[in-house]
Amino acid sequence: MQNRRKFIKNVSLISLGGILAGKSDLANASTLSTFSVNAGKKIGLQIYSLGRELFEDIPGGLKRISQMGYSTLELAGYRDGKINDIEMSDFRKMADDAGLKIISSHLNPPMREYTSSNKGEIADFWKRAADDHAKIGVTYIVQPGQPSTRSTEEVSLVCEVFNEAGRIAKANGLIFGYHNHDMEFARVIPGGTEMIFGRRAFGRNMPENIEVIYDGFLRQTDPELVIFELDVYWTVMGQNDPVEYMQKYPDRIKLLHIKDRAVLGQSGMMNFENIFIQAYKNDIQDYFVELERLPVGTQFEGVKKCVDYLLEAPFVK
Ligand code: MG
Repeated sequence: MQNRRKFIKNVSLISLGGILAGKSDLANASTLSTFSVNAGKKIGLQIYSLGRELFEDIPGGLKRISQMGYSTLELAGYRDGKINDIEMSDFRKMADDAGLKIISSHLNPPMREYTSSNKGEIADFWKRAADDHAKIGVTYIVQPGQPSTRSTEEVSLVCEVFNEAGRIAKANGLIFGYHNHDMEFARVIPGGTEMIFGRRAFGRNMPENIEVIYDGFLRQTDPELVIFELDVYWTVMGQNDPVEYMQKYPDRIKLLHIKDRAVLGQSGMMNFENIFIQAYKNDIQDYFVELERLPVGTQFEGVKKCVDYLLEAPFVK
């Protein structure tokens, strides 16, 4: 008890800077090692943002990320129990050493076309993946790739597969999620042969039961088994408002990808203030910065500019 009280006292002293800066999230003392850097902000990074640069020196790279002010990670590149060529347990250890917590991981089954005959094979993939990820203690396993969805029927089949992946994840103590790009905001019709995007969907000859694919995913997946990681940039690219989706589905959208065309805040096409206001209203606990390949400079430089944007943003708590 004495030790705990002493610990809290020390944390309080270190947190003083945060109090003076008007930060109230002092319960988040686990980020003590990076506290002075990020003033208590819990900012995550999707490691895809660094591309090959991270794998040139993983321990050094992870330490740089931590020093920049990131405190959590979402993995990418899972295959056969490894992240690229690195054993997952080794990756976890290197993240621990850098003071970074792995919350989530992106992974896709090897097939894009789901049929009633390959459902078993897809389930086998998720069983192995869930087992591998449970061992390194992540919370979420997230599918970022859109399977084939050319008709209402294909959307329903995909939802069955997602629900099964969710059951497998849950049996391993994990949560299954789905991450969108832009084409999930295309629409499909019963018996359709293609996704219908943009203004074409409002043509005069479209049936009444035309549905946005993403809405079909939300409607037909079990809320107990499947959560959604909303990529706010791709939602905008899909001609939709991420805030509207967060307002409509507060119990389904549990994670965010905070992303812009390039470095956060530079394009002017993303209203991050409104996005963060709604995220706090929804009590979203985790989000991950994502950055595509930059035409100039290194990915590390870009990732640093992104975290600086969030650290300086008054609307990010
Ligand atoms: Mg994304």
